[in-house]
Amino acid sequence: MLEIIDLHASSNNVKILKGVNLTIKYGEIHAIMGTNGSGKSTLSKIIAGHPNYKITHGNIIFKGEDITNCEPEYRSHKGIFLGFQYPIEIDGVSNEDFLRLAYNAKQKALGFNQIDPIEFSQILKNKMDLVKMDETLISRNVNEGFSGGEKKRNEIFQFALLDSIFGILDETDSGLDIDALKLVSEAINNLMNATKSIILITHYKRLLEYIKPNYIHVMQNGKIIKTGDSNLAQQLEEKGYEWLIQS
Ligand code: ADP
Ligand code: MG
Repeated sequence: MLEIIDLHASSNNVKILKGVNLTIKYGEIHAIMGTNGSGKSTLSKIIAGHPNYKITHGNIIFKGEDITNCEPEYRSHKGIFLGFQYPIEIDGVSNEDFLRLAYNAKQKALGFNQIDPIEFSQILKNKMDLVKMDETLISRNVNEGFSGGEKKRNEIFQFALLDSIFGILDETDSGLDIDALKLVSEAINNLMNATKSIILITHYKRLLEYIKPNYIHVMQNGKIIKTGDSNLAQQLEEKGYEWLIQS
């Protein structure tokens, strides 16, 4: 589904990614761990097409198409979804309107009919059941006054609603209490199937106990320095990152 080849990128002339290689097949979950500032969020934003970052070398291939220079909305319509580490609040904008406009933008881009608000509420209901989304969060403004856990659930809900096939979830677990973590993990597991793939960025083994990754990668200084199976999380929990960075 996704192939990243020798990706180098910078922002404001600061080199951040220094040769990332990553291949993700359909149905796979890849976790990315690593110290703060190692480039995890930068990598996720670059896959989604964030305009603040400049790709200086390498390619991103998604479903066989080179999307290295494509607009973010094009990537989104093709099925890429980025769940932000820090979702923003959009005061005064109803979540339901926001979701409908996003949904319809994708419908339009794919050549399908626009959905009216009444039809849309049925689509919302089906997806709410899938990821156990709280109805009251839909009728409020986008993330306005949401708790950390509610913001993250809203991100997962967008992933579900847009029927994206490739999700990059940046620290979806950070700041969540155990109940919220379970809810969010369940939602992700309910969404996941053989036609989708996910990158989970996390610092904690706990999330990876609820959502089993096929691979765990460790990023350091703009590169992936180690790839292992789900046992790597346990090793990292015990030993930290030092042993990898020094070797
Ligand atoms: P992580 O998510 O792994 O903690 P980030 O990708 O957020 O790391 O950041 C990697 C490094 O790149 C950090 O040193 C950060 O300060 C730097 N960086 C990220 N975005 C920018 C930017 N827009 N301009 C300059 N430096 C940036
Ligand atoms: Mg980050």
